[in-house]
Amino acid sequence: MKPAPFTYHRPATITDALALLAEHAPHDGRVLAGGQSLVPIMAFRLSRPAHLIDINNIAELSRVTVQDGALCIGAGVRHAAFERGLPAEAGVLAALLAEVVSHIAHAPIRTRGTFCGSLAHADPASEWCLVAATLGATLVARSASGTRSLSAEEFFAGVMSTSLQPDELLAEARMPLLADDARFGFAEFNRRAGDFAIAMSLCVVRLANGLVSDVRIGVGGAEALPRRIAEAESILLGRKLDSALLDTAAAAAAAAIDPLEDAQTSAQDRRELAAAMVRRALGRATGMQA
Ligand SMILES: Cc1cc2nc3c(=O)[nH]c(=O)nc-3n(C[C@H](O)[C@H](O)[C@H](O)COP(=O)(O)OP(=O)(O)OC[C@H]3O[C@@H](n4cnc5c(N)ncnc54)[C@H](O)[C@@H]3O)c2cc1C
Repeated sequence: MKPAPFTYHRPATITDALALLAEHAPHDGRVLAGGQSLVPIMAFRLSRPAHLIDINNIAELSRVTVQDGALCIGAGVRHAAFERGLPAEAGVLAALLAEVVSHIAHAPIRTRGTFCGSLAHADPASEWCLVAATLGATLVARSASGTRSLSAEEFFAGVMSTSLQPDELLAEARMPLLADDARFGFAEFNRRAGDFAIAMSLCVVRLANGLVSDVRIGVGGAEALPRRIAEAESILLGRKLDSALLDTAAAAAAAAIDPLEDAQTSAQDRRELAAAMVRRALGRATGMQA
């Protein structure tokens, strides 16, 4: 099918884009970024926006910079940018993003789809949403009436739902840099390479004097929202790691979630997959495979 008719706008500056959003958002004006989610939805006529505000011509949105201890990712930065290498100051975070991006869709989609577009689309199975929730991203929303910064907890509101207002542009995502001694592990289960995740986990661990001094355990794809699982983190914090302790943390993560259910995957299957993904991600972070 072809999309329903719409009016196309192609601003060259953020100011112009925000003015267009202010004018057209009340009449179902929408941002067009990489188009890798919005265009298929329009082609199926599941969405019929009257106006599309294409941000692809705004050069200042395509920058990735390191500022004030964070990697600042503009709304035009595509998935593929994380495959090619980031500023050297991005350190461990750059390695983490390069690992995760290889799990997103296929190469043609990664050359168009954007990091911020994934966050705005808020698919619970989006890898970038899991990264943002686990690492504690700050999301910068701009509109003609001002700018506000949101934590990931404030930003993600539910399945395909965020707290962005219709006239707001997610202008930038700020990902905190990781310490040089931070070790990470990512694991994802899907039926075919490039498919959306059925369950996935991102874990980041730091040790001091042989004990866990900092830990982040995130689960995505399994629930309506990607999030950190405090019940699992508290099992590891301050402890000396061993394989049995990682098993216990993975089981605690699985017990803490409220799994999604669909025709292909029951809630119980998702819970068990979440346990396996957390254990695998922890194993990759610590070198203690199950
Ligand atoms: C076959 C296929 C497989 C895929 N597999 C995966 C996968 O495994 N993992 C994964 O994470 N994704 C996957 N995707 C989705 C892909 O990553 C998209 O690129 C991403 O979800 C949306 O980014 P986009 O830039 O294409 O956004 P668009 O499609 O342009 O927009 C998506 C939505 O977000 C809004 N939006 C976009 N940018 C902004 C912004 N800056 N501010 C405010 N609103 C904005 C739009 O208005 C629209 O509502 C897949 C897509 C396809 C077609």
